[in-house]
This record gives sequence, structure tokens and C-alpha cells, in this order.
Amino acid sequence: MDKIKEIAKGKAKSMFTTSNVNELIMEFRDDASAFDGKKRASLAGKGAVNNQFNAFIMNYLGENNIQHHLIDLLDNTHSLVHSLDMFPIECVIRNRATGSICKRLGTEDGLILERPLFEFFLKDDNLGDPLINRNHIILFGWAKDDQLDQMIEISYKVNELLVKLFANSGMILVDFKLEFGIANGKIMLGDEFTPDGCRLWDDQTLEKLDKDRFRQDLGDVIESYHMVAHRLGMKIKVD
Ligand code: C5P
Repeated sequence: MDKIKEIAKGKAKSMFTTSNVNELIMEFRDDASAFDGKKRASLAGKGAVNNQFNAFIMNYLGENNIQHHLIDLLDNTHSLVHSLDMFPIECVIRNRATGSICKRLGTEDGLILERPLFEFFLKDDNLGDPLINRNHIILFGWAKDDQLDQMIEISYKVNELLVKLFANSGMILVDFKLEFGIANGKIMLGDEFTPDGCRLWDDQTLEKLDKDRFRQDLGDVIESYHMVAHRLGMKIKVD
């Protein structure tokens, strides 16, 4: 399957049409960005590790009855996916408080939450991806009530599955972001699950192994992504 035309270029990925109107090619580039695009860099090998990481996680979720858009891993940096009509919404689950919730609510950094906390954000860099609630989403027509119920239910299920998966390899899944879309009337997990969109801490040292290494200039960003992949038993190809 070949790329025909680039139809969307995000901060770290590009989407291309293919000869099949229902399928797109997703390319993971080496670009890194943070703070709504205000901090940018190119990190060699990031595209390859994230593409293969994402495929591993999506396949694992698929084996556990989570519907997702991944069809096939094409090469080190490209994947074939179902074309989805995406909701302009980010679904975040937090198991511990860190990041934006601490800034917003003054919550203690690292606080273990009694139960997973679900939050909606509007996907809009110009507005700084603001926190929103169901009422905003319904009123402004970004999604319907029953669709939100499904997104919430799937997000909690993904959390349950991945908390266990990472815990078995000595890591804490602190929080993560999911995006959903529709194909043939069915809600599916779209976008990606990689260390760019989640927080992972070593369960002994609490060392950060995710994009916070880039956000906070901690160094060894790609080395950490590879370490996480290695701990999960992935064999990442880099050539
Ligand atoms: O910034 P915040 O603390 O709200 O992020 C929560 C989780 O969602 C983190 O794992 C972060 O990497 C992810 N996230 C993301 N893309 C965004 C906002 C948050 O992947 N635009």
C-alpha cells in the first residue's frame, strides 16, 4: 500500500490517503513537541519506536476486545489504519495526579488517586486544549451523549488493561490521553498510544520514562522509550 497525498500533518504524525478510500497511512515522524507546540525538536529514531510501540499496544488492546483503527504495521515508521471521523475531544485518565491537574487544582504532585479520574479536553492548540465537560460537548455538538458514554467506558477498560500490562514490567501508568473516531457508525480508538501521550514511572525509583523527559529537559528521551518497549518485550527495528 502506497502513500498518495498528505491530508493532515500533526506535530508528530502525518496522515496520507491510499488507493482505498477507507484506509489511511499514518506516519510517525521524529518530531517532538510540547506545550501546545511552543517547544519543538527532532529526536532521531522517535518515529520508529513510537510507530512500533503503538502497534504493540493497539494489538494488545485488540486482543482484549477494544476496537481500534490499526490494520497493519507497514514498516518501521508507517502503519495502515481505518479512516475515522475523529471527535475533537481528548479523553484523559489519571491514576495519579501530576501535570496539568496539579497546576489547575493545586493537587499534590504524585498523589495516588482513590480511583481513576476521567477528564475531557477540547482538542484545540490555539485555545491550549481546555478542560471541558459533557454539557459543553453536547451543547456545541462535538459528540452525542451515548457516544460519550462509550468513550468513557472504553477509556476505563483501556486503563484497567494497561495498568496491569505496565505493572507486570515494573512500571506505573500514571495517566494517558486517548482520542476516538467513528467508522461505519462504530466508535473506535484512533490516534496513538505511545510514551508521547502517557506518563510512565519506574515503580521502584519513580523515574519518568515518557515525554516528560522531553518537556522537562531530563535527557535520554528516546533511550527511555526504548527501555519501556524492551521491558514490555518488544523488539523495535531501527534500520
Ligand atoms: O497535560 P496533562 O497532565 O493534562 O496530560 C495528561 C496526559 O495526557 C499525559 O499523559 C499527557 O502526555 C497526555 N496528553 C497528550 N496530549 C495532549 C494533552 C495531554 O498526550 N494534548
